Amino acid sequence: MSDVPKTHPRYLSLTLRDKIVAGVEQGITSIHGLIAHGRGEAFDYLIGETTQPFAIEAIHAAAAMLLSAEHPVISVNGNVAALAPEGLIELGRGLNAPLEVNIFHTETGREEKIREHLLKHKARLETSPAKEGMGDPPDVLMPTTEAQLSYIDSNRKFVHPDGIFKADVVFVPLEDGDRCEALRKMGKGVVTVDLNPMSRTAKQASITIVDNVVRALPLLCDEIRNFNDATAQETLKKYSNAAVLQKALQHISRSGNGN
Ligand code: ATP
Ligand code: MG
Repeated sequence: MSDVPKTHPRYLSLTLRDKIVAGVEQGITSIHGLIAHGRGEAFDYLIGETTQPFAIEAIHAAAAMLLSAEHPVISVNGNVAALAPEGLIELGRGLNAPLEVNIFHTETGREEKIREHLLKHKARLETSPAKEGMGDPPDVLMPTTEAQLSYIDSNRKFVHPDGIFKADVVFVPLEDGDRCEALRKMGKGVVTVDLNPMSRTAKQASITIVDNVVRALPLLCDEIRNFNDATAQETLKKYSNAAVLQKALQHISRSGNGN
């Protein structure tokens, strides 16, 4: 890690860069992931690098959809694994849902390295007492040739039969538009976290949390822990993803205030 002083105005942003760079060095994150991160950073700058009300609204609906799912699954790529492994495991624990590794660029051994990285964090959690309302640490599933997604040509179509393949709702942060579209066409609910409210993913997902995944994940876990299940259907009925994206765009267009 670089020695950025905590007083630096971009301390958090620079810390995240360090994490992504470390991910590349450990073989977890693809080098292409650096570019995706840069696109995210630009939007985070415009959003003000804090969680905004449109994200809180989406987080509330996301908790409702994930808690109402019969078989929720958390899809993990190299960027999220490097930035927020603890948050992913805590989410899996709160939902009693497995994590599944699914990546675009399968450089030698990267899938296995992500799995090991998650297991290392899971092992750490196993030794710490579970927070109230949290279940056992989640399983980590890997892609297989036994089950394939329709509408996708890349190797991301290879999934686990007991994971994404049979999921009714998939949590897919930092997703690629093609895959989001395929999951939706297969009739699955998609919850994503994407800083760009204009991405194809943001537009096609059932619920888009326009926020940095490192801020959104702990908030989503808290929301799930404290959610009143009786309100879930009402929450989902009232939720409009298009309206939330519109609010994000309005916020960005008003932002020109520098951060
Ligand atoms: P799409 O395929 O959905 O149109 P894209 O091709 O522009 O999107 P991808 O590289 O496929 O982008 O996916 C990366 C997405 O993840 C981008 O929209 C980027 O803004 C977002 N992103 C990157 N880092 C973060 C982060 N830390 N938190 C949330 N979103 C992020
Ligand atoms: Mg894309």
